[in-house]
Amino acid sequence: MSEPLLQAEGLVRHYRIRHGSRLFSHPATLRAVDGVSFTLQPGRTLGLVGESGCGKTTTARLVLGLLPLTEGEIRLQGETLPQAGSMRWRELRRVMQMVYQDPLAALDRRIAVGRQVMEPLVIHAIGAPAERRDRAMAILQSVGLQAHHFDRYPHELSGGQRQRIVLARALILSPRLLVCDEPISALDVSIQAQVVNLLLDLQAEMGLAYLFISHDLRMVRQVSHEVAVMYLGRIVERGDPDRLFAAPSHPYTQALVSAIPVAHRSGRQRLILKGDPPNPVDVPTGCAFHERCPIAVARCRTETPALRPLADGRHVACHLAPGAADA
Ligand code: SF4
Repeated sequence: MSEPLLQAEGLVRHYRIRHGSRLFSHPATLRAVDGVSFTLQPGRTLGLVGESGCGKTTTARLVLGLLPLTEGEIRLQGETLPQAGSMRWRELRRVMQMVYQDPLAALDRRIAVGRQVMEPLVIHAIGAPAERRDRAMAILQSVGLQAHHFDRYPHELSGGQRQRIVLARALILSPRLLVCDEPISALDVSIQAQVVNLLLDLQAEMGLAYLFISHDLRMVRQVSHEVAVMYLGRIVERGDPDRLFAAPSHPYTQALVSAIPVAHRSGRQRLILKGDPPNPVDVPTGCAFHERCPIAVARCRTETPALRPLADGRHVACHLAPGAADA
């Protein structure tokens, strides 16, 4: 196997906040991300799923260096990601780019499309003006747009076309990794498949790796080579998407998969979880899922389960997962 493009080791992001009512507030720690590790190979896709607030987007921002780590390490092409804002960090950031959820918010309505696509080249002082224009034209074509879109403004285009512009802007620096944070959720359903197919085509042509964050499990299954399920800042199950979706091992994954429309979930009954995810300021002891878990036992309230391998290559963090090797 080739050298990993991205290695995340024990990523932790905690915030010191004041918790409670205004009169009786006290210092507390909000555990947004609490020990996340994964590896991403060139040309592969890791799908990151979980309920809102589970730490997916914070993980993405940590990977890009947009948030400082409380603990942990990120290596890109074998090199530890240096401090954000440093010269070397800027160079490495060219290798990884972000695709945002809302293309209209990601683009400046007052600036023509072509200028926005060329802007990263200007920031990095790459090429002469004519070369930048040629490169932007070529990238626009590679994402399915045409030369006449160069002088148009974002509000003159459809949602799907705007997301193609966001992609063009991300691709113009020839990155190797795209961090896609809910890249299709703001689009009409009819457009979502087009954008996903474009992402798959670009991956095949350019060998791009994707960190693909979405709450749409069907889409994640379609695009991912590996899926990681997050709950309260931790990965609770990780592995091959076909195996994970066909026979989820962690009770939380089972509940997520059971919520997929029936044609995609092998006839399983819908599992409804009790209550909402706990506040990340007040994470339960032991297994953080135990208050909602339908099969929790006494041990779950005191002992935090480690992410352990299963015989089929998956990893799961559950004391009761059948076949999980002891740590
Ligand atoms: Fe449920 Fe216990 Fe497994 Fe946590 S460790 S998922 S509470 S059975």
